[in-house]
Amino acid sequence: MGTIRKLLIAVASIMIIMIIIWTALTTAEVKEPEVQLSSNSLRPGDFIQVKVKAPADAAVKVLFLKSGYQLWKNENGEFIGFLPVSYYNAPGEYQISVTVENKTLKWVKAYPLKILERAFPESRIYVPETTRKEVLSNDSVGSDAKITTKARLDAIQSGEPPLWDGPFIWPVKGRISTGFGRIRYVNQIENGRHSGLDIVAAAGTPVLAANRGRVVYAGNLNVTGLTVILYHGLSLFTSYCHLSSIEVQQGELIPKAALLGKVGSTGLSTGPHLHVTFKIDEVAVDPELFLERSLEWDFK
Ligand SMILES: [Zn+2]
Repeated sequence: MGTIRKLLIAVASIMIIMIIIWTALTTAEVKEPEVQLSSNSLRPGDFIQVKVKAPADAAVKVLFLKSGYQLWKNENGEFIGFLPVSYYNAPGEYQISVTVENKTLKWVKAYPLKILERAFPESRIYVPETTRKEVLSNDSVGSDAKITTKARLDAIQSGEPPLWDGPFIWPVKGRISTGFGRIRYVNQIENGRHSGLDIVAAAGTPVLAANRGRVVYAGNLNVTGLTVILYHGLSLFTSYCHLSSIEVQQGELIPKAALLGKVGSTGLSTGPHLHVTFKIDEVAVDPELFLERSLEWDFK
C-alpha cells in the first residue's frame, strides 16, 4: 500500500513539474512580428505605408533604398510609417528590410517591393538668362538647400506625433499648369525635376494649409521665393512657394485650412501660381496621392 502511494505521489509530482515546464515554455514563446505593406509595387513618386505588429517594448526599424524611416506606434500598438520612392529611382526589384528588437528578440526580415516604370513628360520654362544664371547658381541653390535641409532635420528630430487631421485639402483651387515629376528645362538647360504641382491662381489668392501642422520655415528663398514649410509629423512635409506674402510665423502649430499667405510670383517664377510639394523626409512624392484622399491605415 505504502509503495503504491509513494509511486502515485511520484507520478503526480512528475506530471505537475511537466505541466509547469510546459506552461513556462509556451508563455515564454515570442510571437513572430507581422509586417504588412499597403502595396507590393509602386511607381517613382509614389509612397506606400508599412505596418508592423510587434511587442510593445520593441524598437522597429525599416530600411528601404538605403534610407531608414520613422514609424509611429498607434493606439493598437501597431507601428506605422510611410515609404517613398523618388522620381529618380529606377524601376526594378527591391527589398524593404524590417528589424524588430527588444531584450529577448532580434528579428530581421526582408520583403520584396517592385518599382514600376513611369514616364515623366518634359516641362520647359524661359526666364532672362541673367536671372537663370543668378538664381540657379550653385551658391544660390546650395544656400536654399542648407536652410530647408536643416529645417527638415530639426523637425524630424523633434519626434512630433502625426499632426494631420483627416485628408489633405487643396491649398488653392485652380488649373495645374505643371505636373509632378516633370523633367524641367530652364532656357533649354535641364534643371532636375519638378518637385510638386504648379496651381494657377490670381495674385493675392489666399493659400491655405493643406492640413494641420507646424510651421518649420517661413521666409524668403532664392529659387522658391517667399516660402512656407509645414511639418505634419512622421517625416511628412508640405511646402508652399512663390508667395506674395506670408501670414504665419516659424514655430506656430496651425490648423488645417489656416491662411498661410497669398499667391504670388516671387523667386524663379514666370507668373502668379502656387508651387506646392509633399515630401517624406527629403523625397518629393506626388501631391495628388495625398490631396482629398484617405490613407490606407490610420495613425491614431
Ligand atoms: Zn513649380
